Amino acid sequence: MTQADIYDVTIIGGGPAGLFSTFYSGLREMKTKIVEASPQLGGKLNVYTEKIIWDIGALPPSPAGKVIEHLVEQAKVFNPTILTNTKIISIDRGTQDLFILTAENGDKHFTKAIMLATGYGILNPRKLAIEGAEKYEVSNLSYTIQGLEKMRDKIVVISGGGDSAIDWANLLEPIAKQVHLIYRQGELKGHESEVTRLNNNSVMLHLDSEIIELTANEDGDKITKVIIKQKDTLVEQTILVDEVVINHGFESEHELFENSSVGLEKIETHYVAANSYGETQVKGIYAAGDIVSYDGKVHLIAGAFHDAVNAVNQIKMYIEPSAFNRARVSSHNDKFSDKNQELVKIFFA
Ligand SMILES: Cc1cc2nc3c(=O)[nH]c(=O)nc-3n(C[C@H](O)[C@H](O)[C@H](O)COP(=O)(O)OP(=O)(O)OC[C@H]3O[C@@H](n4cnc5c(N)ncnc54)[C@H](O)[C@@H]3O)c2cc1C
Repeated sequence: MTQADIYDVTIIGGGPAGLFSTFYSGLREMKTKIVEASPQLGGKLNVYTEKIIWDIGALPPSPAGKVIEHLVEQAKVFNPTILTNTKIISIDRGTQDLFILTAENGDKHFTKAIMLATGYGILNPRKLAIEGAEKYEVSNLSYTIQGLEKMRDKIVVISGGGDSAIDWANLLEPIAKQVHLIYRQGELKGHESEVTRLNNNSVMLHLDSEIIELTANEDGDKITKVIIKQKDTLVEQTILVDEVVINHGFESEHELFENSSVGLEKIETHYVAANSYGETQVKGIYAAGDIVSYDGKVHLIAGAFHDAVNAVNQIKMYIEPSAFNRARVSSHNDKFSDKNQELVKIFFA
């Protein structure tokens, strides 16, 4: 390990909390690294890239994919080190007050402070419990929709009955040839307004039903029919399909907390105990975003930004005790003088 390998802050998680923390940490002149387990930055927003986010102050209603683009641009302003495909599996103490983060590939990362921005952990979609279903993931079985246009004039079967499945059904209804929504319960579990919308449009709702079989084309590489079964009547129905979308929720991995030796306290399965300044019970480790839960916490993107500012300011004071306890407002900040042209391009493009 050389001095160059040591960062002031290493941010684990590349969602809104991690990306905004990266920007803010640069603003406070800390040497910053952000590490993300998945191949792309953006966190949970990657689950709903096509959906419109309305509730980020001052931003016009924007698809989540666009919000990711803005967050990433902003995070890059102070040239941080950005690593994707880097899953951190443990945090341990090293010498000289350093922490050592170990990645799944064995790489070690050395840092003075840590920002946990891991959301609800690494999310993996709950898979369709039908043998062999995984081979269609490269053709017409998906767990998130990346591009509504792919569904134009297609027959789409969506399995699930929560907010996400209902939203997709409503979004696809005017685009697809026909949308079928299959749900194993007798009542949908979504926002009332979206359920009402669904009940009044052409989506074909199959309640108390589930997919029991997939039939493929002659080459065996694409689903052409799904067979569903109604659980009370046991009646089976065959539906011709072009695309199958499964929305059965997510399972989250928490290996990081299970393996780490630093003594982070869990208050639920996925939250780390931290106060509203992002301080965990381990000095030098801070947290922001969905991972934290304190009185008044807002589990939304706006809440993640608020947490990031507080936690980064705490980190600055941890690393440099004489530092001011908050950044000056960015609009008066000299650091931006040579960045202004770049920023103008980003935000007013
Ligand atoms: C369907 C849906 C719609 C939503 N709509 C809105 C909305 O309209 N408005 C709004 O404000 N909010 C909305 N939200 C909530 C919003 O997405 C979250 O509040 C926000 O993403 C939280 O950001 P985060 O950075 O804390 O966590 P996340 O976005 O979950 O990011 C955490 C990141 O950490 C990574 N990570 C976890 N563990 C590790 C590890 N060990 N090593 C490396 N990386 C790791 C994960 O892979 C992930 O990328 C919605 C959420 C969902 C699911």
